[in-house]
Amino acid sequence: SDFLSDRVKQLQPSPTLAVTQKAAELRAAGQDIIGLGAGEPDFDTPDNIKEAAIRAIREGQTKYTAVDGTAELKQAVIDKFKRDNGLDYAPNQILVSTGAKQSLFNLCQAVVNPGDEVIIPAPYWVSYPAMVEIAGGKPVFVTADWDQDYKITPEQLEAAISDKTRLVMLNSPSNPTGLAYTREEFQALAEVLKKHPQLLIATDDMYEHILWTDEPFVTLLNVAPELYERTVVFNGVSKAYAMTGWRIGYAGGPEKIIGAMKKVQGQSTSNPASISQAAATEALAGDQSKVAEMVKAFKERHDQVYQLLSEIPGVRVKPSMGTFYTFPDFREAIAALDGINSDTELAEFLLKEAGVALVPGSAFGLAGHMRLSYATDMATLEDACARIRKALAG
Ligand code: PLP
Repeated sequence: SDFLSDRVKQLQPSPTLAVTQKAAELRAAGQDIIGLGAGEPDFDTPDNIKEAAIRAIREGQTKYTAVDGTAELKQAVIDKFKRDNGLDYAPNQILVSTGAKQSLFNLCQAVVNPGDEVIIPAPYWVSYPAMVEIAGGKPVFVTADWDQDYKITPEQLEAAISDKTRLVMLNSPSNPTGLAYTREEFQALAEVLKKHPQLLIATDDMYEHILWTDEPFVTLLNVAPELYERTVVFNGVSKAYAMTGWRIGYAGGPEKIIGAMKKVQGQSTSNPASISQAAATEALAGDQSKVAEMVKAFKERHDQVYQLLSEIPGVRVKPSMGTFYTFPDFREAIAALDGINSDTELAEFLLKEAGVALVPGSAFGLAGHMRLSYATDMATLEDACARIRKALAG
């Protein structure tokens, strides 16, 4: 016996790992490697948030808290949902977790039975399919390519729904594309969802604040309040407040589902770190001005990277509406390069020839693309784009 469960043997290892590992090896060997693969802000956590955590330590907030979060943080989450999203939740409709990743994992464990189908629009955040599979469910991918702005249509959604469909996962603005659904697009999807009352919906709003469209952020429930009883909204402090290492995310939803998610969390990790919860309370309830500063920097970098990538022959790119990612289409460049037949091979080529680490699109369910994170300084980004251009030309 190899001691491993069937479940873990079926789990796909992260395709991003190969590139990340190779980048680390090359760097250790003394090579000059620019890593644009990371999914986290380069900024430090704002000082007011750090101070709140230090205060919490000094005041002895060092014990277990309630499994679903401290009363203070849950109130800050309730106030945030009301203030930013116009959504009303009671305390028993809120679950605070060790990152939105855990919240989403809890949901899959709480609602997916073996054989259940879960609709995941592709390109998707890498963890969705794996979480569904760990729960015994079957991911059903709905692919949205360049010509539809990487967003699924109501016709595609309708066609993907079967009597086994249990859950639909939506993420806007999207990791990896940086694109967001408009109010009208959400309305059209909502019309389909309303016709299928057996479906649960998860909306992942992680990048809510990192958005530069004229239209303000919109989440599905804003256009379809009728779906409130079967929608769980996910969010967290990692991206907007540069708090990836603190590990705090949260969910708001129907009491029964949140309660089931809490039960899963109560038998696995219990509460997220008490110190991090104090920090997240300050992040959500305190001064918000740092968020706008960081978003301004992401937007400036985006505009420059977008421009530089657009000028590279064989590469086409859509301007992002938010996040700190862009997801350029390299299919023409791949076709033009001798000996390169896939985005994975292109990622290896760019790492070797340009010293730039990007994540291949196939990791996100859409081959031929690359995800580039611009959560790094402008000079590095300009250098990286110049290197990519040179490597593709040579
Ligand atoms: N959802 C999306 C779309 C993400 O990109 C991420 C992080 O990469 C998460 C959820 C989870 O974030 P965290 O667990 O740090 O809250």
